[in-house]
Amino acid sequence: TKWIYSFGAGHNEGNAGMRNLLGGKGANLAEMANIGLPVPPGFTITTEVCSAFYENGRAYPAELESQIEDAMGRVEKAMGLRFGDANAPLLVSVRSGARVSMPGMMDTVLNLGLNDETVEGLVRSSGDARFAWDSYRRFIQMYGSVVLGVPHHRFEDILEQAKRELGKEDDTALSAEDWQLVVKDYKSIVQNETGKPFPENPKDQLWGAIGAVFGSWMNPRANTYRKLHDIPASWGTAVNVQSMVFGNMGDDCATGVCFTRDPSTGENIFYGEYLINAQGEDVVAGIRTPQPMSAERATPDQNPMEKALPQAYQEMLKVRELLERHYKDMQDIEFTVQSNKLYLLQTRNGKRTAAAALRIAIDMAREGLITQEDAITRVPPSSLDQLLHPVLDPKAERTQLARGLPASPGAATGVIAFSAEDVEDRAAKGEDVILVRIETSPEDVHGMHAARGVLTTRGGMTSHAAVVARGMGRVCVAGAGSIAVDYKAQTLSVGGHTLKAGDWITLDGGTGAVYLGRVPTIPPSLSGDFSTLMGWADSVRRLGIRANAETPEDAETARRFGAEGIGLCRTEHMFFGPDRIGHVRQMIMTEEPEARARAIGALLPFQRDDFSALFRIMAGLPVTIRLLDPPLHEFLPHGEAELKDVAAALGQSVDALRARRSALSEANPMLGHRGCRLGISYPEIYAMQVRAITEAALAVSKEAGKAVIPEIMIPLVGTKAELDLVRKACESVIADVLKEQNAELTYTIGTMIELPRAAITADQIAESADFFSFGTNDLTQTTLGLSRDDAGSFLPAYVEKGLLPQDPFISIDREGVGALVRMGVEKGRATKPDLKLGICGEHGGDPLSISFFEEVGLDYVSCSPFRVPVARLASAQAAL
Ligand code: ADP
Ligand code: MG
Ligand code: MG
Repeated sequence: TKWIYSFGAGHNEGNAGMRNLLGGKGANLAEMANIGLPVPPGFTITTEVCSAFYENGRAYPAELESQIEDAMGRVEKAMGLRFGDANAPLLVSVRSGARVSMPGMMDTVLNLGLNDETVEGLVRSSGDARFAWDSYRRFIQMYGSVVLGVPHHRFEDILEQAKRELGKEDDTALSAEDWQLVVKDYKSIVQNETGKPFPENPKDQLWGAIGAVFGSWMNPRANTYRKLHDIPASWGTAVNVQSMVFGNMGDDCATGVCFTRDPSTGENIFYGEYLINAQGEDVVAGIRTPQPMSAERATPDQNPMEKALPQAYQEMLKVRELLERHYKDMQDIEFTVQSNKLYLLQTRNGKRTAAAALRIAIDMAREGLITQEDAITRVPPSSLDQLLHPVLDPKAERTQLARGLPASPGAATGVIAFSAEDVEDRAAKGEDVILVRIETSPEDVHGMHAARGVLTTRGGMTSHAAVVARGMGRVCVAGAGSIAVDYKAQTLSVGGHTLKAGDWITLDGGTGAVYLGRVPTIPPSLSGDFSTLMGWADSVRRLGIRANAETPEDAETARRFGAEGIGLCRTEHMFFGPDRIGHVRQMIMTEEPEARARAIGALLPFQRDDFSALFRIMAGLPVTIRLLDPPLHEFLPHGEAELKDVAAALGQSVDALRARRSALSEANPMLGHRGCRLGISYPEIYAMQVRAITEAALAVSKEAGKAVIPEIMIPLVGTKAELDLVRKACESVIADVLKEQNAELTYTIGTMIELPRAAITADQIAESADFFSFGTNDLTQTTLGLSRDDAGSFLPAYVEKGLLPQDPFISIDREGVGALVRMGVEKGRATKPDLKLGICGEHGGDPLSISFFEEVGLDYVSCSPFRVPVARLASAQAAL
């Protein structure tokens, strides 16, 4: 088996297409070398080695060692150096790299190959003792913490102490002799912590680092990240061993991270940060404040790369252009400049905010770099949520506490927590929380996930906090340096204010502002790029998009978001208003026909107004109204006071009503007296609703001069006979109204398909239905025999243990529930080829489920108003 793939120095065995085998980093290093970019030579140990390693009880394949020796030999030749050589040592980095980037999840070791002997060789070959000893101390620090497990802060403590004693503030001010002392102390820390001396043999170092990368694939941080992002553990990580280039050899050297466009806004500007005389992680670690790449946006006190290293900057501009054209997407690039010569160390599709994803997709399509269809697929539908979220009300009063970097946009307001654990505790209690840290590390990821927003006091736009928050869609303000955080006291202080954990603050991730207290928010704007993308999506999607809405506000939101009608109006929600619930209770609590008729009569005008309002807002678009569905027990008077009110209104004794109440209560209401069963035992209720619908439709048609076509939907049908009975009753009410008003009306009557029996006998049911709407919430409950309200205690464990691929109430269970939907579609259409088919469960707004509904050929999906844009985009993607 070939376990190793070389790259660089004209010997490239991989390419960008091989990311499953080589990991993203390795595949792209090979690809960059393929297209002629300067990549330091090295080799990739494949992800298959990782899998083999875990399958064989953490042992390597037999041929691995000799293959590594061969590959290392090639690198030595290309570099003209030898690994472990006392005079001119080859140094390497050992870098992890999975199929998908897992930022900060696994750790890189730089400068590997240094020891007490080779460091002298490096002094001689570079002619720069300060550089050599700086590299050595970095190596011990990284290797010590990543591979040997010595706590990071041990090293930091030593360094801080050394700087204090030497009276030097900046790392770059330390001399060769200073670093030599630090190295000595570092080594004794390693000896103390591990009980063994620091490994001097470069080969041992290399195997130790390789083992640590593979080991880190299963560390808790990586496991958490994988769980959050649905990445299977079986993918494994690759290991890249790469010859070092040095950004820490002086003032004509640098290291940096840049994006080909602004990852926060998407603007087409060259965006990035770099540090002179620094190595690798320095830029993201926040030890020194990085400087901007381009001069255009630099403030006078900054030192942009464009000015400091003009030659390398010009090279970078070319690379920016080349890589974007090559990958046809925004790139996140790592580079190092050694003695004015540019080297590329990584490229990948850059993580971006939803706003940036949108803007970049549209700009690139307009620039002709990608097609309109590509652009549609570039924006993850679920990320639109972020754009639909509120922004700070520009008119609201506010007190600004501080300003940091606008690291991830949106407005977030919440209570302060200073640790990931505190965030989780508070979030679990339903609080909105802002995580406040000096800086974040991978240990904080779970807290960032549970938080509304993240505020750090140190670090730049490419700091851990910024990158992770953008990826997760959390608001982030980074590097708000004027704020002092005291973890011990659990306070932050700034400009005379001191806030405790639990106090409210507000972040504006779009401007970087931090405000005192709660600042009110307003709905976002839906114009510009957003409406452009929606327009493109609408032009390719086949599925219709409707909304589930019953209140005028929801209906208006739905229209604003582009809904093409209402797919589900749940009439029961209209029964709970304070002016109505009394009549509803009287209606169900009395057994006297006259009293019931009176109560129902009182409800008629309310319902007529409800429906008129919806018809008006939807202006001729289809409106599907479901007749009363829930078990009556949901409307029963609860306490004694409510019971007394109903008794008084009905002129009956409280005792009689109490008896009636217990007669009506059910052991299992979800499968009880509900849906069309109600319409069958209390035909007056449905008759009232149908009359209200008809009268409203006629009135609004007249007033608008445009026909309203109501769609009446019968819930919980299991047999054709049920539907026939209810349908006949509805039709006779409609006929009555039309006769009274001497009018005409076009309407349809259809049914929900939400019981397995309905799907199985859909061919029969279709004979009596003008349309089907799959009620996938109930269909999931009834197919899996799973009550949604009770599933919370065990369903998460099912998903965790892999017994179910995902929560079937969020994403449709294709094999079970989906098969019934497919059967319902096929049988229904076999009877009636033009039967209108839709879905109105929660799944109507879920992108994965939508692709299934496209596949089975439904006519439309209906979802909650805020999901309408998501559904528009997802159905466009499903159609492509
Ligand atoms: P991460 O995935 O955390 O970004 P990387 O493997 O990309 O880790 O490396 C961390 C840092 O070290 C990056 O800044 C990278 O550019 C730098 N680096 C990695 N390998 C080399 C090398 N061979 N020479 C110089 N710098 C390197
Ligand atoms: Mg990197
Ligand atoms: Mg239902």
